[in-house]
Amino acid sequence: MANTENHKIIRVNMTEMSVNIKDFREDWKYLGGRALSARILLEECDPGCDPLGPKNILVLAPGVLSGSSAPTSGRLSVGCKSPLTGGIKEANVGGNPGQDLLRLGYRAIVVTGQPAAREKRWGLEIKPEGVRLVAADDYAGMWNYASCEKLFSHYPQTASAISIGPAGERMYKSASVACTDRERERRPARHAARGGVGAVMGSKCLKWILVDPGKAPTRKPANPSAFSAFHKKFSKDYLAARHKTFEWGTSAVIPVANMLNTFPYRNRTAGRNPHFEGLDGARIRESFEKRGGGMHNCMNGCIVKCSNMVHDKDGNYVTSALEFETLTLLGSCCDINDWEEVAILDRLCDELGMDTIEIGAAIAVLMDSGGMQWGDANAAKALLKDEIAKGTDLGVLVANGVSSVGRKRGHHRVPMVKGQAVPAWDPRSMKATGVTYATSAMGADHTAGLVINPAIGGEAAVLASQESQIVNAVCDSSGFCLFLQPSIDEIRQFYNAFFGDELSNEALADIGWQCLQEEWEFNRRAGFSSEDDDMVKCLREEGIGPDNAIKFDIPRDLLAKAKVRQPVSDTLFYGTAAG
Ligand code: SF4
Repeated sequence: MANTENHKIIRVNMTEMSVNIKDFREDWKYLGGRALSARILLEECDPGCDPLGPKNILVLAPGVLSGSSAPTSGRLSVGCKSPLTGGIKEANVGGNPGQDLLRLGYRAIVVTGQPAAREKRWGLEIKPEGVRLVAADDYAGMWNYASCEKLFSHYPQTASAISIGPAGERMYKSASVACTDRERERRPARHAARGGVGAVMGSKCLKWILVDPGKAPTRKPANPSAFSAFHKKFSKDYLAARHKTFEWGTSAVIPVANMLNTFPYRNRTAGRNPHFEGLDGARIRESFEKRGGGMHNCMNGCIVKCSNMVHDKDGNYVTSALEFETLTLLGSCCDINDWEEVAILDRLCDELGMDTIEIGAAIAVLMDSGGMQWGDANAAKALLKDEIAKGTDLGVLVANGVSSVGRKRGHHRVPMVKGQAVPAWDPRSMKATGVTYATSAMGADHTAGLVINPAIGGEAAVLASQESQIVNAVCDSSGFCLFLQPSIDEIRQFYNAFFGDELSNEALADIGWQCLQEEWEFNRRAGFSSEDDDMVKCLREEGIGPDNAIKFDIPRDLLAKAKVRQPVSDTLFYGTAAG
């Protein structure tokens, strides 16, 4: 019988160096991933705290269905108060740790406090026999790939790992939390990238978390026949229709994005890149035949397989996945128009443990303000290897993100919301997505509510954004990957078959709305106001497209409507999640 009675929360206090295993609250059954992280942070974290101090809390929570056989359902949410935005943050990630944690019955890891000896490094070992902190000083300063290779020389290759690179240890505001993928090599190629969550893990001197599920079984549904029947139907329908979108990964969208003026070029001074072919995902796809690599799934049970594994000319692995967002921010926005150069930059970001969106945007502002030549891939690589990795003044400036570079260089064009860089999808041509950037508690984050529709603006864009924000909050709490594109109605059917309940679409949408409200409330307590829910001036005043006429033009009073619950429509229940 599927229930939560054996579920636990791991509580780690890094001040006392203690680990306690606590029962999971039965009334939190439908709180997983992002919604669980928001609830714990709102209840336990002081919103006014220093994000890098002992009062911040790091939450790592798999989704409601993680560890089960539901397809593509093992996402892991990483939450905290963000050092980048000063507000609440949730970034979620694939790989196997989410699946492995819930196979062991753990609904969350909650890390509090801070060790007095800041030079020490610690690992958290989670095994079927128990959970303990272990000394990890010999991992200090290691890059992610070498660090995980060393880790798996001590632990079974069937385990998974969550780790930070030097960027997290140095507490850079762009630092990510890496998860190992399901490949035999257990590569730390998947990243909870946004908002500096890796800096918070680094502030707690926690270098890695190792999850060894041993022989723990997959979670069993309460109603196996109903679960299996819906699983089969959903998977068949998905593979027949929706799968086309991500068959070759997100990089395949580049020609269309360029046509729609949402492939920003040279720090968003244009919506189209005249050299987009050099970054088109088709080039990556063509490389598979001669070089190897190809499409794969990053976690056990994923039926989408959207992740491309990229090899160099000699057939050696370089990185995975090389995505639309990375090709846009580290490529097109910097006028670096060669996918192979971007692949190397992506690998460097993964090695150091940094958000490719934030770093790409920060380099683009550096270039736009005269601090580096447009298109200079070698200078960008040197910046990562010689400045950021070593912590020089320039390195720290860029690694602290777009806001840090813009402020220091006194530049007027700094595309960000709440201190976080604007992702690839441009808010001027995709206005509903712009509403999400302006109003989400996360700052500019496409995964908080992506609407790919250039035809809507005004009130319609605000309503579309709100619906997308609710659907994505439900999806990010379920464990499903956004690229599976489930609707609220489909997630409800999975939940009901799994738990043997009769949850309604309205009740599930309410859980998503509650999550958004708790995130907004955290930010309100942290000092944010309606003044912060706006689009940055440069994207309101500087247009793109024909005659530079496409601008973000939704007035602030209309934006406020996105945070007032609108009447429920069928598109809320049957519209699909997007990221
Ligand atoms: S859809 Fe892509 S990102 Fe999501 S779990 Fe599968 S391979 Fe990973």
